[in-house]
Parts: sequence; C-alpha cells; structure tokens
Amino acid sequence: MEIILARDMGFCWGVRRAIEIMERAAQEKGEIISLGPIAHNPLVMAKLEERGVRLANGGEMPQGRPLAITAHGAGPEVYQRAREQGVEIIDTTCPIVTRSQRWAKRMVDQGFTVVIFGDANHREVRGVLAWTQGKGIAVTDISELPPHLSRVAVISQTTQNPDKFADFVSRLLKERVDEIHELRLVNTLCNVTSSQQEAARELAREVDVVIVVGGRSSANTRHLVEVCQEEGAETYHIERAEELEPGWLQGRQRVGITAGASTPDWAVEEVVARIREMAASGLIPQD
Ligand code: SF4
Repeated sequence: MEIILARDMGFCWGVRRAIEIMERAAQEKGEIISLGPIAHNPLVMAKLEERGVRLANGGEMPQGRPLAITAHGAGPEVYQRAREQGVEIIDTTCPIVTRSQRWAKRMVDQGFTVVIFGDANHREVRGVLAWTQGKGIAVTDISELPPHLSRVAVISQTTQNPDKFADFVSRLLKERVDEIHELRLVNTLCNVTSSQQEAARELAREVDVVIVVGGRSSANTRHLVEVCQEEGAETYHIERAEELEPGWLQGRQRVGITAGASTPDWAVEEVVARIREMAASGLIPQD
C-alpha cells in the first residue's frame, strides 16, 4: 500500500513562524501569555501550554508576564494598553496580516471608508478593523453595506476565497456605481487556503481513499473534505490516528493524506505511522 501526502497541507508558514517565536520566547523568558489561541486545535494549545505558553484570561493584560500577539494580529489599542502598563509584547502577527492592517490605516488616513470583505467576528478581521478607527466595516455581502459611500477602499480577510472576493468587488461596482466617486482595491489575500485546496483536489484524483486530518470544528478542514468528495474520492475526516478504521483501507493501493491549516505535522506523522502499523500487523482486512 502506498501512502501519498498532499503537496501542501497543515500549518501555514505564518502560524509555524508564530509558534516558533512563542516557544523561543517562553524558553528565554519563562511563561508568556498568548492573546487568544494560536490555532483552532486543542491538542496544539495543550502542547504549547506544556512549553510555557498560556492563554490570556479574556482580553486582560497579564501582570508581570510578556503578552504574545498571535498570527491573527491585534488592534492598536492592545499595543497602547501594553505600553501604558509596562507589559512586554511578543508580536507574532503574520506579515501578510500586518500588511492588511497598514493598508487599512493608510486608506482611512487618506479619507477612504475601508470595506473589508470578511467575517466581522474573525480575530484577524477584528484586528484590522481596529486600525480603521471606526471608519471601516466588515461584510460578506454587498447588501450589508451602509448607504452613501463615496470614497471606498476594499480589502479582504486574508483567507477569503479569491473568486468570491472578485465577485464581491464587481458587484460593488455594478450596484453602487452611482454613489462611488473613487474606489481603491488592495489585494490582501493570502494564497494558503486556495493552494491547500488545490493540492487536496490533485491528491483526491490520484488515490483510492483520502484521510483528512484536522479538528472537527475547523472550517477549512471540513472544506478539504468537501473538495475531495467533489472529486469523487472516498474521504474520511479524523482528528487523531486512533480514529482510523482498518475497514476504510481494505483493498486500497493508494491512500492519500491531507490536513487542515490548524493540524500540526506530528498529528499527520501519527496517522502515517498508524496506517503502516495496521498494514504490517495484518489488521487491514484482505479482499
Ligand atoms: S495570512 Fe496566510 S500565512 Fe499568514 S497566518 Fe494567515 S493563512 Fe497563514
């Protein structure tokens, strides 16, 4: 049986970088406090806690410990409060998110209303919005926009779908062209999500069965499952290697594995090892 891994899967480089920075800081400075979870994966958070990275209690400033900002970034008020209270900041904001924040601020400074195509409750979007000093709005549909827009700058949540972003912009232009005098478009998309989906699609075409590894509440992991199913591949979604069932692999020559963006490499390695173990010990039923 051949095991084939998707060419792009798991943590994006922005999250890998953030974890590395936090682990190094915790090693050098002792316990540090993270402003929110770095990945939507309880296993990852538990491992980080063992290494000295603890979750902040709500939005509270830690007393006497450094505060780590996650890859999603944060608004200017967080930096200001930390400065005022003498709290050291470990900033792991992804550079692509920082670019988005800078554009949002620059556009507002130039008098534009900033429209963010994205989920207003997502941490990255909340952070970018905070840089607009109340002159920004996050929406996923044109109908949610306020009336009387004049000078508009449109940016996107980094992980939005490129086709949907393009569609949003073209609808904005078509439906609000009478009132918009100036429109600036800044492409702030990150290609990680689309690249991982494309890799899952390719994988699904060349294997007999796909195992998708990732949290059940992770939207992008579930999306990978859908993409593989769309390609007609028999697909199973698991969080841990222990959930693998030998019957899924019966008579399969090529098994594909992919993983959501919040899945660490070691979780994938455990799945590969478990499949090899099951094959070697004769656990997989023969046709
Ligand atoms: S912007 Fe892209 S690389 Fe950065 S954290 Fe988000 S998904 Fe990862």
